[in-house]
Amino acid sequence: MSQMLSIPLELPEFQIVNQWSEKEAHFALVRKQCGIERCPACGFCSLGIHDRRTRKVRDLAVLKKPLFLLVEIVRFRCQNCEEVFSQSFDSIKANQHFTKRYQEYLFEQCQGTTIQKVCKQQKVPYSTLERIYYAIAKEKMAKQRKELQIQAALKEEVTVIGIDEIAVRKGHVYETVLVHLVHGGVIGMNRDRSFDSVTQLLCHHAILSKASIQTIVVDMWEPFHKALRMIFPAATIVIDKYHVVQKVTQALDQVRKELQSSTKKAKNPLKSHRFLLLRSWEKLKETSSQT
Ligand SMILES: [Zn+2]
Repeated sequence: MSQMLSIPLELPEFQIVNQWSEKEAHFALVRKQCGIERCPACGFCSLGIHDRRTRKVRDLAVLKKPLFLLVEIVRFRCQNCEEVFSQSFDSIKANQHFTKRYQEYLFEQCQGTTIQKVCKQQKVPYSTLERIYYAIAKEKMAKQRKELQIQAALKEEVTVIGIDEIAVRKGHVYETVLVHLVHGGVIGMNRDRSFDSVTQLLCHHAILSKASIQTIVVDMWEPFHKALRMIFPAATIVIDKYHVVQKVTQALDQVRKELQSSTKKAKNPLKSHRFLLLRSWEKLKETSSQT
């Protein structure tokens, strides 16, 4: 017999739709709070919903009983390149049936004992736990190696940097982030996306010398450009291609809408052709490309 359950998940990306408890386990039906999803193939943001499905994901035990999340997963179809892909989650890796925190817990449990003992205790198949254990061990080693590389890189002359914005506090507040583009490490972050914030960030780091910085990759945010032109007037500024593609697509769509509203319905050649315009030329069928 199922009972109602009320336990805070402490996974802020999820909204709990329903939760209940059965003899062997607790269950929570969850869905992701709305957020921006980018196409992993081309970085485009305008996406149509392809379908929805549910995945059973095991999480940390609650009151000594396993907790299973029934996660509603939306699959999108990118309107730029037609790639179909699933929603991404902060707390669950792609295609996994365990939350990240539960995988970490399993890894910790294996320290000083055998995988076999933990399998028995947690009722997890041996091959699954073995795969999780070695994947986390590999990740930890790679992270350590990366940190050492970044430390070494920060002692060398920096020539290519990136400036971007990052959403913090559930995506409502943006901060400026300064990235070492050769090794991918974060050099620093500062409050908001203002001219003062980015200027402070760029002047604060002694490793960023005016003479050595040759290339800066950035989006189209004007306060960033104003600060960069002032501090590094000789550097080449490269606009991130995702932002360019998005602006071009928005402009094309705007022109199509204007033409559509100024032409009579029957004679309108652009009616219902939004997706033909957005699709790349190589992906069009012969009849579509003639249209
Ligand atoms: Zn795409």
